[in-house]
Amino acid sequence: MHKAAEWLLGYVRQMGLNARIYETAGNPIIFAELCRHKNAPTLLIYSHYDVAPPGRMEEWKTLPFSPVRLNGSVYARGAVDDKGQLFAVLQGIKSVLAVEGKLPVNVKLLFDGEEEMGSPSMDAFTRKYGDMLSADIVVVVDILKYRNDMPAIYYSSKGLLSVILEVSGPAMSIHSGIYGGDIANPAEALARMLAGLKDRDGKISISGFYNSVRDITPEERADFASLPFDRDGIKALLGVEPIAQEKGYTPIECVMARPTLSINGLWGGALPGAPIMIIPSTTGALVSMRLVPDQRPEEVFRLFEDYVNSMVTSGVRVKLQVESSREPFITPRDSPAVRIAGHALEYAFGHRPVLVRSGGTSGIVSLLKKATSIQDIIATGWGDPGDGEHAPNEHFSIENYRRGIIATAATMYELARMKKPAKSERIVV
Ligand SMILES: [Zn+2]
Repeated sequence: MHKAAEWLLGYVRQMGLNARIYETAGNPIIFAELCRHKNAPTLLIYSHYDVAPPGRMEEWKTLPFSPVRLNGSVYARGAVDDKGQLFAVLQGIKSVLAVEGKLPVNVKLLFDGEEEMGSPSMDAFTRKYGDMLSADIVVVVDILKYRNDMPAIYYSSKGLLSVILEVSGPAMSIHSGIYGGDIANPAEALARMLAGLKDRDGKISISGFYNSVRDITPEERADFASLPFDRDGIKALLGVEPIAQEKGYTPIECVMARPTLSINGLWGGALPGAPIMIIPSTTGALVSMRLVPDQRPEEVFRLFEDYVNSMVTSGVRVKLQVESSREPFITPRDSPAVRIAGHALEYAFGHRPVLVRSGGTSGIVSLLKKATSIQDIIATGWGDPGDGEHAPNEHFSIENYRRGIIATAATMYELARMKKPAKSERIVV
């Protein structure tokens, strides 16, 4: 990782950018900038130079860490996620510098070395260097198109609250024949708590859970309804029919814009292969909730805690521990960043991008938002959904790479044209 960071540092410096490596407790972060304008807006681009592990080597047709050019694509781990897309950003900047000798706007680049691990060092980094990262718009280049012919702009991602819920009872696991009649069973208590979390319509039963949920707008409804939904493809892949998990909403609406609650794991007591008739001493579950604007993780945790306390039966104790907590984010659909990226992507790909919301959680967006108070953040990228990110035989087509270079250049010109600089913008010469 250090070697990769050093290489990247050398590359951006040779392009003429001011750049530095920031050591962290984990992998280095690279920050580079070219902010020569006194009266131009600033674009901050985030991407990452670390990659997912290669997985099972026998499933790769080429070596994951020896890039091969094949059928118009480059095959390698990180080809698209995110080294290839990061490199297209650099080439876009380099091209403009080569032609014009300068950039039309101020540009800052933030390259993470730990994205695939959940960016553990970014929290401290963004808090320490919030001023340095200030910008008018942020473009996170780390996603793929919605469909090959549909470049996408993600203007929202869900927040996250995951909680470990532990229910304990007797001091040790005990014989269910001897004690089954007079000692409360933590596994049963846990099962009752979990079963009560949702009703039959898929509504989350925690009192007050939906109070801060922002409604899906009519424009979003119309847009989401026009998106392709590959029901058969999902069924073929997973062997089960996709069904909207909340009554009154479509599957896409549930994924993109409604809060969800999932039991991610359950543990405790006897396991298959070792059946033993016990009342377990302790059982637990990991429960996560994907939150939407304007839900706040701390507030939802309090509601969850109230729910759990209301369900505790005598003879068991409950322990709750927040495992992770992230704020949801949403950028208005008519914000400068959405419009700028919209024009740039249409120019580069010849298709108008779709406006979509992520059902996942972008840690970096909530950190940047918190540290810099920048509201205008979107995520985009140029790879195809079939490019195999995180899978064997990951690849990135040269054509998408080329268009990503054009999109980067177009983003800078569109920003110069459309957005006035923020008054508070600091100038680094
Ligand atoms: Zn990525």
